Order: sequence, then structure tokens, then C-alpha cells
Amino acid sequence: MLGDTAPFRIAGNLYFVGTHAKSCHVLATSRGLIMIDSGGIDTVDAILGSLGTLGFSPSDVKIILLSHGHPDHAGGAGRLREITGAEIYMGEDDLKYVGFVPDHFLSDGDEIALGDTVVSCLFTPGHTEGTFSFFFNLVENGMTYRAGMFGGSGGNQLKKPYMNRPDRRVSYLMRGAFFKTLDRLEEEHVDIMIGNHTWQNDQDRKYERMFDSPENPFIDPTEWQKHLDKTREAMQAIIREESKTEFVNYAHRGASETRPENTMTAFYEGVALGANGIETDVQMTLDGVPVLFHDDALLRVTGEPGSIGDYTLAELRKFTVKKDGMVDRIPTLEEFLAAFSWRDITFAIELKGEGAEQAVADLVYRYGVDCKCVVTSFVLERLRRIRAIAPGLRTGWLKKDFADEDLRAMEAAGVDELCPRAENVTPERVEEWHARGFNVRPWAVTDDELMRSAYAAGVDGMTVNFPDRLAALTGK
Ligand SMILES: [Zn+2]
Repeated sequence: MLGDTAPFRIAGNLYFVGTHAKSCHVLATSRGLIMIDSGGIDTVDAILGSLGTLGFSPSDVKIILLSHGHPDHAGGAGRLREITGAEIYMGEDDLKYVGFVPDHFLSDGDEIALGDTVVSCLFTPGHTEGTFSFFFNLVENGMTYRAGMFGGSGGNQLKKPYMNRPDRRVSYLMRGAFFKTLDRLEEEHVDIMIGNHTWQNDQDRKYERMFDSPENPFIDPTEWQKHLDKTREAMQAIIREESKTEFVNYAHRGASETRPENTMTAFYEGVALGANGIETDVQMTLDGVPVLFHDDALLRVTGEPGSIGDYTLAELRKFTVKKDGMVDRIPTLEEFLAAFSWRDITFAIELKGEGAEQAVADLVYRYGVDCKCVVTSFVLERLRRIRAIAPGLRTGWLKKDFADEDLRAMEAAGVDELCPRAENVTPERVEEWHARGFNVRPWAVTDDELMRSAYAAGVDGMTVNFPDRLAALTGK
């Protein structure tokens, strides 16, 4: 079976054998073929056909290098290995995307050699957690050119609706990794840019020009940098756009300006006022039940002595939470999730007291809100603990302000939401935090002016006591 794209020699010993939508290249070395990306399971026959057209046989393929684990790049690798006997190399962090076990995991800086050809492999995460980019020399008319393939330059997989999918669960920090990858790839000199997809290096148009131009159109030392610039701008545009389209208006302890805070009354009112997120606080009762309550002491909102941990749930049920003549009782986290988990809203659950991590993780998964929930705390250690229990959960660090060492601590702990006081938010800082991959959600938005300035600065969400005014501002 033939594919939709004729196989051809790009330059030196590099050939294109893929289809328009699914790229596959081979380097013809003195000891067989190195294949770069395998295309999908649906293009295996087309690739074998193209190899045959060029005079290669399947058993010539000795090595299959995979840029990343997405099905259009790696989906055919398992089948091609069966047919060719080649060995598969890929990044270990992409194992979750593929249905086979590779023969080797790549490490940053690996040089994969076969015969007279060496491919340098750079770890360039972002598009996926385990993306690798490949560089090698091509000799054309006695001149040596450096060829390079960016293993994953598409930004669509770094959009929030994709990253939050239950089958994906990609950390927002991958956006930071993506920008770091771009910085690193800028240091590579590339004369011939190889497309990870045919449209990335304008392959079709170059192919047409190839036969009537004396110069090989694939040789263009300016193209690499242009592609990196375009890729960076596209990612920045996605983040800017999503700060509006995916913005989350969190009702702080529910609509706590007008209702008894952290009660079902306040949560329902928050949603009624236009919030598309609810922020609440969890503490453990004496008998180990997670309930929603903010203060260390019961006094301010219930008038009772002591604190949550001094009482059993049954005892706490007798107390009332008061606000302007309205009363409600202290709800459990489970009651809250039972009432709201099915709604199209995001949850910010703050670990207030000690020892709530396991109970929160269990309930978040039991009610299926793990992909639309961020667990937060002022205490980084609590976030480390919940990540150890449930590594797939998003976490956010609440802090007055963030120094560079704080950002590094968050990256190391995998904490991907940064929650500063609203007064410390500026457009420049939001841009810097976004470039590191953090989702930015300010708190202590005490008045309309702070709300407006934070929103204009491009934050991704906000915690407010007055969701109606924020909804009016965002038009959502
Ligand atoms: Zn991909």
C-alpha cells in the first residue's frame, strides 16, 4: 500500500518515508537504517511501501528513535519492531502514552550511532513529559550541514482542556518546561530543519521546488530560529487567551460576603451569583471526619469555644454558623462534594489543619473531581504530602508573595498553582510566572480596584467574596 506522499531524499542520507499527516524519516547509514518516528498504527503499511519504493527492505531498519509518545509519532513503532526486528528508543516519561515497552530509554545528550551516522538526542520536554529532539550531520555536495528536528513543538497539547483530561493529567509546569526547551534549542545551530510534521518545515512546497532549483530548498539556516520564535509566540498566545476563556471565578468560602461562610447556603449562593469555582477549607474533626471550616477557633462564626479538632462530628452538628441573621451548620467535605461534584465548576480545597491530606485525596477521587480541583495550602509541606499520596492532583501554594527560591521549591515539589496576595500581582510578574509554567490565582482581592488590576494583569482565576462583581467584570 502506498501513502499519500511520495518518499524522497531530503539531503545527504536522510529520506522521508511518512505521510502528509504522520512523519517518518530514515537515515541510511553504512550499517542499516535509523528510523526517526514511526508514524501511526494506520501508516505502517504506507511506510513499508515507501521504504520498498526507495529500495530498502524492512530488515534494514535497525533502530527506531521516537521523539515522543503521541500516537501519530509512536503508534506504529510496536508493529514496525515486529516486522523489522529494530530496537526502539524513547523517553521514559512518555511510557504512559504508548502501548509497548521500548528496548531502550533515552537520556539527555545520548549519541545514538549506527555505522557512519550519529544522532544526538536532547531531552526537550514540554509538548510531552518525555519529548526528545534529534540532531545529526548531513553531507550534501561535499558540504556538511547540521540537521535538527524539534521533537514536539505543538502547543495544542498544552491547552488546559487537554491537560485536564482524565487520561492525560499533564502538569501546568510542562508549559514552563516547554519555554525552557525553546531557550535551549535556540542554542543549537541548524542548517536543515526536519519537520516533526510536514507543515512545520513547509515540506510539500520545498519538495515541489526541489527538482527545478539548483539549490536544495531544505537548506535554510534561518528556518530553525523562525520556527522557535513562532512556537514561543503561539504558546504565549494560548496562555493569554486562556487567562480569559478558562478564567475561574472562585467564590471564597462560598458567597461569604452575604452568607454564613463555608456553608451549603454560601456555596449555592456563590454559584447563583455566577461563580464557576468554589474555594473552601478543610479541617479534621476529633473523630477524623473532614469538615469545611476556616478559622483555628470556632468563636468568630459560631460563638462556641475551642476548635474543630476538639469536637466529634456529632458534637459540631449542634453548632450553627451565623451571618447577618442567617444560620447554617458546618458541612462535611463529603456533603459538599455530593452536592457540587457533578456541576461544571472548579474546586479549590485548602488544607487548613493537620492530617487532612489522605481524607481529602480519597474523597476527591471518590467523587471524580480530581481533574477539576486544586488542593491548596499555606504550608508547602502539606502540598508535598498530598502529592506523595496523589501525584496526579493539582496543588497550589498560598503565600503573600513569591521569591525566586519559592518558585524553585514549587517546581521541585511539582506544585503548579501560584497563589499570591492580589496586591503583589503585576502584568510583568504574571508573565514571568506563566513562563515558568505556573497557574496564577491571587487571593485577598479585597476591593474592586484590586479585582480589576489583577484581572487586567492576566491571572488565571481569583478568589473573591463577591463573585457577582467578578462575573460582571469577566462577562462569564
Ligand atoms: Zn504530539
